[in-house]
Amino acid sequence: MKLDTICVQGAYQPKNGEPRVMPIVQSTTYKYESSDEMGQLFDLKKPGYFYSRLANPTCDLVAQKIAMMEGGVGGMLTGSGQAANFYAIFNIANAGDHIVSSSAIYGGTFNLFNVTMRKLGIDFTFVKPNATEAEIEAAFKPNTKAVFGETISNPSLDIFDFDKFAKAAHAHGVPLIVDNTFATPINCRPIEFGTDIVTHSTTKYMDGHASTVGGVIVDSGNFDWTQNDKFPGLTTPDESYHGIVYADQGKMAYTTKLVAQLMRDLGSVQSPQSAFLINIGLETLHLRMPKHCQNALAVAKYLKKNPKIGWVNCAMLEDDPQYALAKKYMPHGTCGVVSFGIKGGRAAATTFMDSLKLAAIVTHVADARTCCLHPASTTHRQLTDKQLEECGVSPDLVRFSVGIEDAEDIIADIQQALDRC
Ligand SMILES: *Cc1c(COP(=O)(O)O)cnc(C)c1O
Repeated sequence: MKLDTICVQGAYQPKNGEPRVMPIVQSTTYKYESSDEMGQLFDLKKPGYFYSRLANPTCDLVAQKIAMMEGGVGGMLTGSGQAANFYAIFNIANAGDHIVSSSAIYGGTFNLFNVTMRKLGIDFTFVKPNATEAEIEAAFKPNTKAVFGETISNPSLDIFDFDKFAKAAHAHGVPLIVDNTFATPINCRPIEFGTDIVTHSTTKYMDGHASTVGGVIVDSGNFDWTQNDKFPGLTTPDESYHGIVYADQGKMAYTTKLVAQLMRDLGSVQSPQSAFLINIGLETLHLRMPKHCQNALAVAKYLKKNPKIGWVNCAMLEDDPQYALAKKYMPHGTCGVVSFGIKGGRAAATTFMDSLKLAAIVTHVADARTCCLHPASTTHRQLTDKQLEECGVSPDLVRFSVGIEDAEDIIADIQQALDRC
């Protein structure tokens, strides 16, 4: 199946007389004829469902579809994108370990890493997305367990140089984990560029209708956890799970540990209802992404010519400094989000935003409706100016999430709002 077909028909293949649409299995538990049969499920000797905190048929199908879209071997849905990034790292790093991360990441992820995960004893070194190989090399420590980045960072829109970071990670025998939320597998498939683990906030383009918070982790199955002694959680027995050695599960090692250990203990599950809604979004993702990109490019070109605009960041513009990098990894387009600065800084940005009629001010990003946000006064307000700068977010930055309406209407709205600035 090609990508577009996977979007529409992947994973759920009904048999004769079964529902055409992926059913919502709204059940916490599953019935068995004997205790022994259920015991075998607990021992992972037989596949099957017993409790929806560990696995649910609807959630599994959606995770499987996204894994197919990304070209991975397995996946697990989570209750949110935050949970996905936390689990993706916590599955292989414990107190005393260290992670190298791009500094150009979502504000919520930066906080998770820099504050909450540090409290758990996991240390982070942040490197600029345009860091040299030598700078990235210098960030590694003997206890480094992974490298992390975002394909297109939210909201700074830095394009991740997969080759550079994958090479560094693999030279140190650790996996590369990439949050592919903004690009989606329609525009970029990170596994093809050496990424080992892919995460998403499905809340954004995958759902695409701003209806459902969710996340997913996809494993490429490519990383060999037994190549060194850095990953004892996968290569030595888990006494909390009958002494299972996850690496014995081969390509499913990482996913099995995610489900059997982390989801069992931490429980940030996605509800089957949410998975159902995300799947409806996935069925049109391949149609929506090109339209988002086409509209975003039209908006970026318009902004670029407007004298009231100080700067525009959209890697699809031919004269954008990131154009070549974006073309290399995303030849068909990046995403619908563009950012720009209005001359007059913070005050002008506020007047502009308050004057918009079609585009709504929301914290959300990446859905069918055009929306916008001023990160410095909202999502990123907990960060210091120095931290803002490290994340690539200037105080005048407006994040504009271009929807799939008619581009002429979106531009007319921007025009009338700029006229008031
Ligand atoms: C929104 C977002 C997240 C967090 O996802 P939630 O679903 O809001 O928890 C993580 N990474 C990126 C790139 C995001 O845009």
